[in-house]
Amino acid sequence: MRSSDPSAQEQLLAWYARSARELPWRHPDAGPWSVLVSEFMLQQTPVARVLPAHARWLARWPVPAALAAEAPGEAIREWGRLGYPRRALRLHETASILVTRHNGQVPVALAELRALPGVGGYTAAAVAAFAFGQRHAVLDTNVRRVLARLVAGLALPTGSAMSAAEIRMAESLLPDEPAVAARWSVAVMELGALVCTAAAPRCGDCPLAARCAWLAAGRPAAADGARRPSQRYDGTDRQCRGRVLAMLRDSGAPVARAAFDALWPDPVQLARALDGLVSDGLVDPVTDDTYALPSGVIRRDPPGVNVPSHPL
Ligand code: SF4
Repeated sequence: MRSSDPSAQEQLLAWYARSARELPWRHPDAGPWSVLVSEFMLQQTPVARVLPAHARWLARWPVPAALAAEAPGEAIREWGRLGYPRRALRLHETASILVTRHNGQVPVALAELRALPGVGGYTAAAVAAFAFGQRHAVLDTNVRRVLARLVAGLALPTGSAMSAAEIRMAESLLPDEPAVAARWSVAVMELGALVCTAAAPRCGDCPLAARCAWLAAGRPAAADGARRPSQRYDGTDRQCRGRVLAMLRDSGAPVARAAFDALWPDPVQLARALDGLVSDGLVDPVTDDTYALPSGVIRRDPPGVNVPSHPL
């Protein structure tokens, strides 16, 4: 496929207009906050699980200031079982920064988006494109796979890290008009989610089939090492951390350390998980043997405790 091929753009955009899913963060009335929240949630969680969580989140915190006014532990509680809960903490920090530095609004500039906690290059580009109609290459896993097939003739992108050449190639395909480029970006993403899937691409239904290098080459197999093994969850520290957090989310009060023992058979792994949650800021030690979701209140050592002095 040639760079900036107008007929390819028209075909993909026409397919998107016919076939795209109606998602709340794509609705014309969805504001930048809705888009930003969706991008945090979608970073590592499938759309089907994000949909109800996103609706609850926006109903409870329709603007960043509403979230910023609550304790970070409430963000973790509301995050529920979406996984990778540090995203909830980062989203709460982001809401606070939006209030203190951006007048409660999601900033428009890519560099300002990129400076927010939990916002990497992909998320900044996605929010700039989808919330503000800017022209940026938006490269998630789905888009990387589609472009690898379409342009490079590869079954899967090479390597887990995005290369500068991939970004340049994605930029070369963007339509010139910013609003059209933003629509092209979401259309490529949707094609990867619905048609050009990792395991079973439906090339017969693809609007770009006539231009696809991988299809023209006879759909060669992925090179050794291009396929990443799926990650195990059962028995991992992640699962153990999830159980501890679930108990704290479900409890309205601090939980005694001994109560966690029933959650996990390996006490060493449990202690490691709890330490990790505390050091990540997801759990606060309230006393020597009770824990809670973070309140956002900086705890002071009680009078009489000998604490080391720090230089001012
Ligand atoms: S023709 Fe097949 S491999 Fe090529 S972009 Fe379309 S779905 Fe993907």
